Amino acid sequence: AAKRSGGSGYALFEPQMEDNAVDQLNLQKDLRHAVELGQLELYYQPKVDGRSSEIKGMEALLRWNHPERGIISPEVFIPIAERFGLINGLGNWVINEVCRQMQAWLDEGVRVNVAINLSGHQLHQEDLISSISQALKRHQVDASQLMCELTESVAMKDIAATQRFFKGLADIGVRLSIDDFGTGYSSLSYLRQLTAKQLKIDRSFINDIESSSDARAIVKAVINLAHVLNLSVVAEGVETEAQRKILQDFGCDELQGFFFSKPMREDKMIAWISRQKLTSATDRSPLTMPR
Ligand code: C2E
Ligand code: MG
Ligand code: MG
Ligand code: MG
Repeated sequence: AAKRSGGSGYALFEPQMEDNAVDQLNLQKDLRHAVELGQLELYYQPKVDGRSSEIKGMEALLRWNHPERGIISPEVFIPIAERFGLINGLGNWVINEVCRQMQAWLDEGVRVNVAINLSGHQLHQEDLISSISQALKRHQVDASQLMCELTESVAMKDIAATQRFFKGLADIGVRLSIDDFGTGYSSLSYLRQLTAKQLKIDRSFINDIESSSDARAIVKAVINLAHVLNLSVVAEGVETEAQRKILQDFGCDELQGFFFSKPMREDKMIAWISRQKLTSATDRSPLTMPR
């Protein structure tokens, strides 16, 4: 196809674009049946305390176990779900599955707060708030155990819709987190108007925090700013001890990343928590002593 279109500067990209379009059509056909066929699965990644490394909660991350293609990343199939009108169905499945899981963990004596990621499309889902509160009731889970993450760029796109939605969530007692912060263009005054509780600094800044003094300055300023606004700060994508240390020195409230744990299957979770508890109980560092 590239040869056929002759001198066009776009020619080289055409074949791939065609593949992608066909691919997307095929994938959306399969995605329509993914829920009923039990192909969706949630992985959980811990958020830990910035000082003691004790677990503060988990973030649920969606995976699609495709029968032929293996595990497909949400970066691939969430945009397809959005484009083909499947996102609300997937989102509702996530909400219910997380509540079911929190109830199952409660039955095992472990109370874990879980955050789910929301797509911008879900903000326009009429019954989103009531689906969330029904799922919480169905599984007898307290609203304070659930958090919703929405990326900064989505939150900024439709400010009125975001504010309405945030208010609705706050009214039922669910907390809100602004994800991937620093990649959008939020103004101070806008952040102040949102009833969010948490701000997650985008991984790209954490990635550069050792090598770039600019990244360090930005992260430090964001943490201080967030604290002025009474927001708790999470650093995402922490991969090294050096990054952990810098973020601890900056007073970052919570940390998340491969350094602590990759996203894991539900069945690994309880073992991970007990191991974590043991480590902090035997650690003689003054910062991890019970207070
Ligand atoms: P996110 O919410 O910002 O999630 C963080 C992503 O970074 C996850 O990718 C996670 O696996 C990855 N990550 C965590 N720690 C590290 C690290 O130390 N290093 C590196 N390199 N990566 C790390 P994942 O699971 O592929 O998810 C990608 C995005 O897909 C998420 O970004 C979120 O926006 C979206 N997503 C995931 N699950 C859902 C869902 O249930 N619903 C919706 N609407 N979106 C979802
Ligand atoms: Mg997230
Ligand atoms: Mg994020
Ligand atoms: Mg992200």
